[in-house]
Amino acid sequence: MTHQHRPWGYSNSSSSSDGDTPDWQLHEETLAVRAGLARSGFGETSEAMYLTSGYTYDSAEQAVHSFTDEVDHFVYSRFANPTVSMFEQRLAAIEGAEFCVATGSGMSAMFASIACMVETGDRVVAAASMFSSCYVVLSEILPKWGIEVEFVKGNDKTVWEKALSKKAKVVFIETPSNPMLEIVDLKMVSDLAHAVGATVIVDNVMASPILQKPLLHGADVVMYSATKHIDGQGRVLGGAILGGFDYIQGYLNPFIRHTGPTLSAFNAWVLVKSLETLSMRVNKMNESAQVVAEFLAEQSKVKDVNYPGLKSHAGYEIAQKQMSGAGTTLSFEISGGTSKLFEVMDALKVIDISNNLGDSKSLITHPASTTHRRLDVKTRESMGITDSLARLSIGLEHSSDLIKDLQQALR
Ligand SMILES: *Cc1c(COP(=O)(O)O)cnc(C)c1O
Repeated sequence: MTHQHRPWGYSNSSSSSDGDTPDWQLHEETLAVRAGLARSGFGETSEAMYLTSGYTYDSAEQAVHSFTDEVDHFVYSRFANPTVSMFEQRLAAIEGAEFCVATGSGMSAMFASIACMVETGDRVVAAASMFSSCYVVLSEILPKWGIEVEFVKGNDKTVWEKALSKKAKVVFIETPSNPMLEIVDLKMVSDLAHAVGATVIVDNVMASPILQKPLLHGADVVMYSATKHIDGQGRVLGGAILGGFDYIQGYLNPFIRHTGPTLSAFNAWVLVKSLETLSMRVNKMNESAQVVAEFLAEQSKVKDVNYPGLKSHAGYEIAQKQMSGAGTTLSFEISGGTSKLFEVMDALKVIDISNNLGDSKSLITHPASTTHRRLDVKTRESMGITDSLARLSIGLEHSSDLIKDLQQALR
């Protein structure tokens, strides 16, 4: 059973009905604390955590009807669970998507979002700058099954036109990309993709649902690692895929049901509560990231600062057009190579060395030896991930403390 997205929420208790649904368009902040709320008969204030793998039926016949989707009854938590559904419906409301399917991690979301659609002989076209595990799925795993994958570098329209002059099943775009913060024009690529019948899937992890809504710019499907900004407090892994009826019911749900990359009820409970504060956290982190990026850009020991909120960034104009903020994460190079960079990282007193991002704590990592270590040197270099590149995810600390920390470490 799949629960259709209910913009307001629903109640299992008889005391509340659809008559309580507001008849005006609710703001994102309101949806973030209200959408999807499914109270039990106890009338609890907070979202309940349903740690149950299965469900019982009043009669053998009700079980039959539950399996044939004739009655709205949960059947098995690999398919759906009330707490997971609350998370899915709330995220769908924030994203403005018809449906959301939660998964156990960002990578299971990424893999399922493409694998559910493609078959041997199909073509996938992808923006070349991306998170390394996504690159491994596209360059190693899918080709094993006879899927042809072509990578497109940058945002040049003529290059995209050439790649999309032939039929393609899926176009996969990560924008901004991890860790180079490259920007791809969602509208431009979506138009080209649709002309050859491709489904456009966007990895929106770096922007978060708050700063970029790919569906408004022509994309068909959005996927997340909920581990990043959505949890944003370093606790649980999770993922999500959002899209319309044909994609979700036609391709994704049958695939997910039987392959089982399910999100646990516990993690869903953490994530549904995290959505309540997502916009406040992301907007604050985004503001601080802009301030820190501007500070770093002025430092003589810092070479290139990659942040789409800086006018010097190649994707600045497009980011202004399709994002409401340039994001919480930036990357930069230190003159003097890896050893100098490691000295700076080791000297930090507030910012932690860690490979997560989108967290309330500011985190710095060396992608070449951690998150993107899995890529061969040539691929890594072609993506611009040099040995002296650091990725910095800005958290909720006061931006002047972060600047002071960077200042003393650079000294
Ligand atoms: C982290 C990340 C993923 C994978 O998410 P997990 O939750 O770690 O599986 C996918 N895409 C991007 C851009 C990421 O940063």
